[in-house]
Amino acid sequence: MYCPRCNHEDTKVLETRLGKGNHSIRRRRECLACSHRFSTMEEIVREGLVVVKRNGAREDFDITKIASGIRKATDKRPVEVERVNLLISEIVEGLQKKFEEEVPSSAIGEEIMTHLQSVDQIAYVRFASVYREFRDIDELAKAIDQLRKAAKPSDFCFRRTRPPSSSAHAQCDAGFPGRDGAHVASRRRRRRAGL
Ligand SMILES: [Zn+2]
Repeated sequence: MYCPRCNHEDTKVLETRLGKGNHSIRRRRECLACSHRFSTMEEIVREGLVVVKRNGAREDFDITKIASGIRKATDKRPVEVERVNLLISEIVEGLQKKFEEEVPSSAIGEEIMTHLQSVDQIAYVRFASVYREFRDIDELAKAIDQLRKAAKPSDFCFRRTRPPSSSAHAQCDAGFPGRDGAHVASRRRRRRAGL
């Protein structure tokens, strides 16, 4: 992205937000050479992208549905609006890379869960409970268990192997007990669980 004032090539993104009607992404940028600030718009819905639902019905790809699902899942969670908007654009871009014309609704759900998992685990469980239609508390417990096993190495407390850091202990308090070497096995489990 070239600066419109000095034509310098490098700019940094200051802010990302959804445009009118949630069909575009507006990025506020600053030129690294002259500090000129300007905005860019990106259309994020590929024309004609069609969603194939579980029952075979087809409907137009609708980013507002993705946005609403993510907003509900992250409601009252410590996730900034900016991060939520970025998440939505990452999900849409991810889907556009993988699918040309038709996208199964299940792939949209999985894409959302993959991204939510790395942002906020409570939001992930909330979304999963609606998307996967948990029937009872056992299914919920199973999902949380998978989440614990699939947690990234940084999510674990290395009380015994590393000096305590505040972020590691925040995760401990959130119920992710430290287990030596757990992250090595967790990647394998995560792959098996398809997460
Ligand atoms: Zn410039």
